[in-house]
Amino acid sequence: MANLAPWLLPCLQQVQALKQTKSLSHALLVTGADGVGQEELAREMVKDLICESDQASACGHCHSCQLMSADTHPDFRVLDGEESSIKVDQVRLLVRQMSQKPQVGQNKVVLITHAQAMNINAANAVLKALEEPSERTYFVLTSSQSTSLLPTIRSRCLLVNVPMPNLDQVKAWLGQQVNGEELSSLFWLTTQPFRLVSIQRQGKTLLYSELPNKLIEMLQGRAAPEGILKGLDSGNIEDYCNGLAAILHQCICHSAGATLDSALQVIYPLLINRFGISSLMLRYQALQKLKSDLQKTNLNPIMQLTHELNQW
Ligand SMILES: [Zn+2]
Repeated sequence: MANLAPWLLPCLQQVQALKQTKSLSHALLVTGADGVGQEELAREMVKDLICESDQASACGHCHSCQLMSADTHPDFRVLDGEESSIKVDQVRLLVRQMSQKPQVGQNKVVLITHAQAMNINAANAVLKALEEPSERTYFVLTSSQSTSLLPTIRSRCLLVNVPMPNLDQVKAWLGQQVNGEELSSLFWLTTQPFRLVSIQRQGKTLLYSELPNKLIEMLQGRAAPEGILKGLDSGNIEDYCNGLAAILHQCICHSAGATLDSALQVIYPLLINRFGISSLMLRYQALQKLKSDLQKTNLNPIMQLTHELNQW
């Protein structure tokens, strides 16, 4: 808990207070925008719930806390829908495993992150488990699109809404992370703190931070589109699309009065002079379409993005 981002702390304390008064719902749904830290918050909640002590937050010393920190607690199960959808067989297996008595402490905990990735059968299986809860079993769900969950699941959960931190909070928090300062150069892309950290962990900071200047070179005729896309491959093409779309989006918003990030000060007049606002929106839409087509098309995505940039 010591390292928990400050905007997550009130949410955690709210749940801890309910735990201590033994009035906590057996199902929790942590919601909020992508990248604000729902998963990090949910994992702290899980630690508190599985701890064997009577105190509000995890003691860190009991057998359960030690097993949790070793990631080997037998009464804790997790399903993550970030990469692929969550299927009914996965939920059924998990519910079966959790129907036994706790092997170690008093509570069992199921964590389902990115719960919007449950398909309808999986969601119904979770709903059934929530309607007929096993004793001392907690479900903790996270979702950035909680309205797409079954209303009957939502209504059975205590909703914990993570607020969007303001820019000062994000800057202060990034300053405490390893090499976090460099991430403030990507505020034109996103100010969602955990998304920024995830980009850094994936080694993609440079890919994004170089993009505005490479684009300037292209728009000034000093580089070809192929120059911008040097290093592009099927593993990072979505990042290029995201980066280019974010630049266009910022410029479109700025033309409507929003503040422009300092990293885009030079690029804005170049883009506006070349396209005007309506063509800028068309290019933005084309990039979004290209991104959504990446999964379903047989065409070479790298050729498609090069073709797109040739129209800039
Ligand atoms: Zn403990």
